[in-house]
Amino acid sequence: MAGRYVYSFGRGRAEGHGGMKDLLGGKGAGLQEMTRIGLPVPAGFIISTVACVLYLKRGREALRRAIGREVERNLRRLERATGRRLGDERDPLLVSVRSGAARSMPGMMETILNLGLNDRTVRGLAERTGNERFAYDAYRRFLSAYGCVVFGVPRDPMEQFLRDAKTRLGVQEDTAVPVEALRTICRQLQTHIREVIGRPFPESVEEQLWGAIEAVFRSWMAEKAVTYRRVERISGLPGTAVSVVQMVFGNLGETSGTGVCFTRDPNTGEKTLYGDLLLNAQGEDVVAGIRTPMSLSEMRRRLPRAYKELDRVRTILERRFRDMQDLEFTVEEGRLYMLQCRTGKRSPRAAFRIARDLAKQGVITRAEAVGRVTPEDIERLFYPVLDPRVPRSEREARWLATGIGAVPGAATGEVALTARLAEKAAGAGRQVILVRRETSPEDVAGMHAAQGILTATGGKTSHAAVVARGWGKTCVVGCEELSIDEAEGTARIGRRTLRAGDLITLDGTGGAVYEGSIPLTRPALPEAYHDIMGWADSMRRLGVRANVDTPYDALKAVEMGAEGIGLCRTEHMFFDSEDRRLAIREMILAANVETRRSALARLLPFQRQDFEGIFEAMDGRPVTIRLLDPPLHEFLPHSEEEQRALAARLHLPIETVARRVEQLKEANPMLGHRGCRVCLTYPEILEMQVRAIIEAAVAVRRRGIKVLPEIMHPLIMDPKEFDQVARHTREVAGEVLGEHDMAIPYLVGTMIEVPRAALLAGAIGAAADFFSFGTNDLTQMTMALSRDDAGRFLPEYVDDRRLGILADDPFQTLDQEGVGQLVIWAIERGRAAHPGLKIGICGEHGGEARSVGFCHRAGMDYVSCSPYRIPIARLAAAQAAIESRSAGRAAATGARHRARPGGGDGRARSGNRAGGSGGRQRGRRHPVAQA
Ligand code: PEP
Ligand code: MG
Repeated sequence: MAGRYVYSFGRGRAEGHGGMKDLLGGKGAGLQEMTRIGLPVPAGFIISTVACVLYLKRGREALRRAIGREVERNLRRLERATGRRLGDERDPLLVSVRSGAARSMPGMMETILNLGLNDRTVRGLAERTGNERFAYDAYRRFLSAYGCVVFGVPRDPMEQFLRDAKTRLGVQEDTAVPVEALRTICRQLQTHIREVIGRPFPESVEEQLWGAIEAVFRSWMAEKAVTYRRVERISGLPGTAVSVVQMVFGNLGETSGTGVCFTRDPNTGEKTLYGDLLLNAQGEDVVAGIRTPMSLSEMRRRLPRAYKELDRVRTILERRFRDMQDLEFTVEEGRLYMLQCRTGKRSPRAAFRIARDLAKQGVITRAEAVGRVTPEDIERLFYPVLDPRVPRSEREARWLATGIGAVPGAATGEVALTARLAEKAAGAGRQVILVRRETSPEDVAGMHAAQGILTATGGKTSHAAVVARGWGKTCVVGCEELSIDEAEGTARIGRRTLRAGDLITLDGTGGAVYEGSIPLTRPALPEAYHDIMGWADSMRRLGVRANVDTPYDALKAVEMGAEGIGLCRTEHMFFDSEDRRLAIREMILAANVETRRSALARLLPFQRQDFEGIFEAMDGRPVTIRLLDPPLHEFLPHSEEEQRALAARLHLPIETVARRVEQLKEANPMLGHRGCRVCLTYPEILEMQVRAIIEAAVAVRRRGIKVLPEIMHPLIMDPKEFDQVARHTREVAGEVLGEHDMAIPYLVGTMIEVPRAALLAGAIGAAADFFSFGTNDLTQMTMALSRDDAGRFLPEYVDDRRLGILADDPFQTLDQEGVGQLVIWAIERGRAAHPGLKIGICGEHGGEARSVGFCHRAGMDYVSCSPYRIPIARLAAAQAAIESRSAGRAAATGARHRARPGGGDGRARSGNRAGGSGGRQRGRRHPVAQA
């Protein structure tokens, strides 16, 4: 591999710059840039990530052949710049050898300081500095770091030598250990390392240097680094660069020190220098936490010149890198040296404030500010969380088990093992956690009453998860260590058996279940959040609606920024009270049309009242109401005891109830008698629901409030189905409007959630006013994956280290490669048959950032999601629009850019257009993204 591998910097000249992160790593690029702009940086050189690849692929000899001369040349140059020579016995140059990849991986790779010391140079260093103690302190640090990093000698026994010396001398601080003891420790370390590795510690400084370079390269593949990249979903990086930099010393006495700081407060985003300084120390001491560092305000007092310089550097770096920076510095005898700058990690709150403030200062544009916050920032801003003041040890002591964190945040309350008991306890003003094997629509009222939900089975889109997410309610699912004995009234979680009434706490972010009540906090939304979201709204093309079923949730959704309702699941309304439950059950158990009609007539006022409330809350915004979707058996009780109680209430023989339950039983209810099929076979249900919707619209209209009802039919799979239900819907609506002598515009549309409907979208679209993609079912049916059970094996499918067949859980992130193709096909066919066809999505994907990006590029008109996900959808829609615009601009200027499908107007033109930019998606599995 020919080419250049090494880039030097020093004395105000740099061969690289800040934009070379891929080649020089973040640290390397930062050092080059800081040098270029005249900041005080020690001299050095960076060995590029290309050399790392070469070493990891072809080994030591190939590396030395390829870069040996360059390293030699740059080392000489460094020696000239510093006026010192590596290995010089009188005045040795010492260097640090550090890792640094394009993305920051704090603490995951290796660093060696004070390289260049041996038994001779240590004396030279002592003489030059006139500080023998300092020289031997540096030597002992070097021996132990090198022994550990390069030779793999365990660190702890080596550190024991220092601890023993301190005990012997009766001193607390490292700085109090005298030179004689340090000399002894150095000898002990040399002997120990020789015994472990079977040869003497290298005296040759060249050998030391090469050993360190190779060790840093190897640390790219160390288990902790590989795990970190997987967890943080960092992919596509070639390796780490190595920086070799002249040492400056923070351990030269009380006017020296080592520090870390942020250019703004990483917790609040406030524009203030935030960090620590440790006097008379080297970098590793800060991490080790041996002594308490001083605050920067104290530094201002003690080292005013260095502080002033640091403040100046901060302003320059923020302007240069256009973001908050995380800095490492050393003060050597009062003089400041910058050792590192990189984009600083920040809390969600700080992310908003920093982006907003930088835009207001004119450092970045508003579009950039919108691009700087992430969906995760938003998510974490909203949920109550475990109070961070609770000590970790206390949390660990209370830990019971860990399931799948389905809805983030935290909740605490007493265990309720049935929905009824949850309702009852909540009704009595107590906080409850509903603990179930799994939940079903029958549990909805109890779920609503609970603070949080815990289930033994299910994945992130199981019933419990979907419903809980809709309410922003903390939810942990798939907790395999949970078993419930309803008869006994106990739940076994991990090692403990709990009874109803015992307190537990859920952490929906990590999926942990704790015993007892752990305090929670709910932070208020920062002002900067509202500013950034306002900017995002002005930049997006996609509309954002909510999936809600009650007036209360509708109001909440509007507060979160919803511009309409994209999905009102009417079946949830039937569980809201005992009266309603009874009426729907009576309707299902009816022996003939007449009794069915009379039960429906009792339900009608309830439905009408719900719709009125929702129309009012939405105040003129469009409201998509979906007619009944689940199979009827879901509304009936299944235990004999409950069936008996129902039979008694309805004055029916128990056999009638049991027979009907048996009749309705289906092997695959998800593929059975549900959705529009119910309304086609029991048209009186459609009549009741449509009547309720239109009567509610009339009533609200009469109060002077605009209404825009959109009536939606679920599970359509054939144009004839849609034609029939749409005709019937229009007939009933026309009849009601006629009765009231009113004209209210309304739409009749369909969900596209069955693959056949997507394929036949042309014929269906010709008759429909709108499409709404039900991507939960569409994913389930296209991929033959059960929404409720797939969680049992999907993790293996998604995990790279196991099967790695799918890049993501398709119920969370839309499978653009497969399901997405059906969506694009349906949009094209639908719009070809019916130009201007209104199109949205109401599956769970409508609130997931990458899927929202896809919806933008596919040319949908809106996305609809749970109220708590609305801000994420707003942000993602704006980010997708910004990305499309800049891709469009780049294309227009003929610039070469990565083929990211999607242009300015967002309308789908070709089958491939909407394929994702993918973000973190793996291109290999997304040929569309590469098209
Ligand atoms: C869907 O299938 O995507 C959908 C929104 O409907 P549900 O989740 O109620 O089946
Ligand atoms: Mg569905």
